[in-house]
Amino acid sequence: MTPTTKTEAHGAREGRGRILDGRAFAAQMRAEVKTDVLRLTEAGHRPPGLRVVLVGENPASVSYVGMKTRASQEAGIDGETLRLPADISERELLEVLGGLNRDDAVDGILVQLPLPDHLAAAEHRILELVDPAKDVDGFHPMNVGRLWSGAEALAPATPAGILAMLRRDGFDFKGRHAVVVGRSNIVGKPMAALLLGQHCTVTICHSRTRDLPGVCRTADLLVAAVGVPALLGADAVKEGAVVVDVGTNRIDDRDLVLRLYPDNEERQATFKEKGFLLVGDVDFTRAREKAGAITPVPGGVGPLTVAHLLVNTVQAYRMRTGR
Ligand code: NDP
Repeated sequence: MTPTTKTEAHGAREGRGRILDGRAFAAQMRAEVKTDVLRLTEAGHRPPGLRVVLVGENPASVSYVGMKTRASQEAGIDGETLRLPADISERELLEVLGGLNRDDAVDGILVQLPLPDHLAAAEHRILELVDPAKDVDGFHPMNVGRLWSGAEALAPATPAGILAMLRRDGFDFKGRHAVVVGRSNIVGKPMAALLLGQHCTVTICHSRTRDLPGVCRTADLLVAAVGVPALLGADAVKEGAVVVDVGTNRIDDRDLVLRLYPDNEERQATFKEKGFLLVGDVDFTRAREKAGAITPVPGGVGPLTVAHLLVNTVQAYRMRTGR
């Protein structure tokens, strides 16, 4: 059964498009991973191993890494966070990664980004040192190339999670026009590659795109991965389109909250309580009035990312061990 909420999102009175409940899809995926891992261990094999490498103490990164490692452990994966000091040298970090590459019980290696300033310039070099067979973030050029060439690849967890959700929801990809707003290596570009692989006609938009709403309005599937609160409104959505909002933006402007959620008491109460609100790149209230289906923020794409990291870890294990 498709896990789509029948209730209104976030207690809203606004309505129309169906809510694509990322949390429910993610729970399904995580339960499946757990079953897969259990089958492996019951057959006498070791569980898949995941190492999440955290350099420094960036609070958002600490929280993301905690979520990823906890989720892996809950699924029966041998998951562990390696916390490294913020002032670690590039050479020392490369040594740690080399050790993980050589460790046969480790199937997935993830280096949490962003890296501290003194390592930021070396980011490409560092990510390229991760064994492509263990690169569960799908950032290594080998996996990027494999993805674009249509070979079996470890694909970045956010777009791969979105694809998995859309498939489960029965989205008919073939020949549909997908517009991806954002061209980052983490979301936009791999999302476009995955949708192309599903035979969508794909348009990629970015900060220099002319008439962004006009281009978006031609989309059967609109994926927004920008980082600008409520950039895309009703004028960017075709009637009946499926809208996937990757954006995770923290806003603390009360007027903006009231403008974005005029009739949504729950969202307004959350803002009052916390002093900020997480919102997407899509003006959810207005876009939903035209969309056929739409992901909320929070509770949409975020949980899919964590779930698909686990899927990727099992995939890496299978590819490495042939089990
Ligand atoms: P980046 O900053 O790397 O990329 C943003 C993209 O948006 C760029 O391609 C940029 O264009 C484009 N852009 C910026 N402003 C505009 C504009 N006004 N009109 C059109 N395009 C614009 O961001 P990420 O891809 O890493 O992340 C995007 C959003 O998704 C963020 O809010 C992030 O927090 C969220 N995110 C959420 C995840 C989740 O699991 N839920 C995971 C990853 C990201 P240009 O290339 O021309 O500069």
